[in-house]
Amino acid sequence: MRHYIVLAVGCALAACGSPERPSQPPPRVVQGPSLRETAQCQADLRREGVDFQPLPDKQFAPGCGLVGTVKLLDIGVPTTNLGAVRCGEARAYAFWARNAVAPAAYQILGSELAKIESMGSYSCRNTVGTSGPVRLSGHATANAIDIGGFVLKDGRRITVLNDWASADPALRQFWDVIRRSACRRFGTVLTPDYNAAHRNHLHLEDDKAGFCR
Ligand SMILES: [Zn+2]
Repeated sequence: MRHYIVLAVGCALAACGSPERPSQPPPRVVQGPSLRETAQCQADLRREGVDFQPLPDKQFAPGCGLVGTVKLLDIGVPTTNLGAVRCGEARAYAFWARNAVAPAAYQILGSELAKIESMGSYSCRNTVGTSGPVRLSGHATANAIDIGGFVLKDGRRITVLNDWASADPALRQFWDVIRRSACRRFGTVLTPDYNAAHRNHLHLEDDKAGFCR
């Protein structure tokens, strides 16, 4: 009950966008992965030559915080607009970008990948566009990354918003290949096929949901 009051007051002060309230208040303190899991994850990144910086844990609003996060410094593919990311999510993302997206760009689209444009990771907010109960997004713990587009070295810029529904066979194959790979590497993958809230980005989250739309 006390947690609920704290949440309600927090929402009143912060003018939360949704008038609905969660039926279950989120845990006030983000637990996150164990120290052992985070250490293993960091070892995996080092072994694969990923350059990163471990970040200090921080708690923000109830259910929102950073535990076991890193900042990716060099994964082989520049990614814009990426701050703190939970290590397991960062690992899945780095390996997807390097082993799926970059080869797919080269082999299917005929150009090396110059950069991936992200729309960030951490954001203390609820999920959007779903009809189910209100709940905190994976972004509230930096356990999800949103991807808006890709820039190729030949100058082409491919965005989820403009090119997801393209009739170009190469682009269709590119989306298909990187989506399939993402669905194997992340627990939740949401695309424009899921709902209108995702018309301009791919939501990639390191949970165990096995949800790929
Ligand atoms: Zn997202």
